[in-house]
Amino acid sequence: MQLKLYNTLTRKKEVFRPIKKGHVGMYSCGPTVYWFQHIGNLRTYISNDVLKRVLEFNNYKVKHITNVTDVGHLTSDADTGEDKMERAAKKEKKNASEIAQFYFQTFLSDFKKLNLIEPTIWSWATKHIQEQIKLIQELEKKGYTYQTKDGIYFDSSKLKDYGKLARLDLTKIKAGKRIDIGEKKNKTDFALWKISDKSGQRQQEWKSPWGRGFPGWHLECSAMASKYLGKQFDLHTGGQEHIPIHHTNEIAQSETAFGKKPWVKYWVHFGWLLSKGEKVSKSKGGLYTISELEKKGFNPLAFRYLCLTTHYKKPLNFSLENLEKASEAYNRLKNIISKIKNDKKTNKKYLKEFQEAINEDLEMSKALQALWGLIRNEKSEGKINAIKEMDKVLGLDLLKKEKVSVPKEIKQLADQREKSRKEKKWKEADELRDKIYKLGYILEDKNKGFIIKKR
Ligand code: AMP
Ligand code: ZN
Repeated sequence: MQLKLYNTLTRKKEVFRPIKKGHVGMYSCGPTVYWFQHIGNLRTYISNDVLKRVLEFNNYKVKHITNVTDVGHLTSDADTGEDKMERAAKKEKKNASEIAQFYFQTFLSDFKKLNLIEPTIWSWATKHIQEQIKLIQELEKKGYTYQTKDGIYFDSSKLKDYGKLARLDLTKIKAGKRIDIGEKKNKTDFALWKISDKSGQRQQEWKSPWGRGFPGWHLECSAMASKYLGKQFDLHTGGQEHIPIHHTNEIAQSETAFGKKPWVKYWVHFGWLLSKGEKVSKSKGGLYTISELEKKGFNPLAFRYLCLTTHYKKPLNFSLENLEKASEAYNRLKNIISKIKNDKKTNKKYLKEFQEAINEDLEMSKALQALWGLIRNEKSEGKINAIKEMDKVLGLDLLKKEKVSVPKEIKQLADQREKSRKEKKWKEADELRDKIYKLGYILEDKNKGFIIKKR
């Protein structure tokens, strides 16, 4: 069964054929660690994770690199504005590496709660400054750079196919709205190295052949991806907004420096998480983090389930009502599965249906239908082993027994109710049971005492 993926570069669904048989080199644009990663960001990492698990399900060995941007990402993707890390450090009165560590560790904890498999390497931008300088020197040697007062820029007009990923119409861009491009020669040129105005003005700056300064954000991904995956590799992923600028620029500088076309064979882009029809973004406050959803009583895996119900390329409109529905479905699923006995067989029919769905450009909602079909079919055998296989991709802990951690408040109410029952104060006992129910828990009376379950 062949795996097919939609490739942004060719705008076609293609059979996936890696450069080296059985192996996949995959690079994903990761977090800029100046603030919390919100559930919008996390949808993208869930999509990455599902893609990686699907590749592994198809027996590929995946080397996965994700960058951590801890320098150089300016408030505008088009090389203007402040460095997001420096701005956060000033605001929080901390140094930039403290900021980076704090937000990365918080992100990692949410990452694990969502059952996301960590990349082979988390690649930090500030740990690869020399690789980035070398890449600029290579571009300089080949004659693709020029210097202005504030930096070294890539001359996009020297490339015939600049903008091919996004299919940019360069004549239209040139003729379009007048914008101040400073000393840049073309609107689409971008910074490779930014020279600091005054030495010591920034917390993070490094010596370079062009003066003290810091690398451009696009450069970081090219330098680190090819350091670990080679001059040409299989798969590059990221959010859809990266197509016209960030990924376009990564391609321009990498194909020029490394001399391989295409630099990356398959480009996969993920759709956004929306709220009330608009992209969830940090600049607008970011909606929720995973911890905030947990405080509202949601299991992080219910969010993962919600993300699986929509195709990765499509927008997903988030609301607490949608999450509530996903959460109910997820709990029902786990509940039904917990009652199935393992007959040691493996159901081939539904597993095949499942694999056909995931291999068709990750049709996860169809894959979920195969799972529901399996568990609802009373005549089916081999359910548990098939579920175990499916969960390698779904990552929903479908067979893990839930240890309900009951909040102290609920336990106290339950004890109070038990006391009322013993004292035969039935009305009071019923009221307490209702209260517990409204708070999301069910009390089940047993011969000896009671048990508490999540609703
Ligand atoms: P950042 O930390 O802003 O660099 O973003 C990290 C990743 O999250 C990038 O790959 C973005 O494309 C992605 N991202 C940002 N906002 C959203 C959103 N609303 N929905 C899905 N992905 C997003
Ligand atoms: Zn990137």
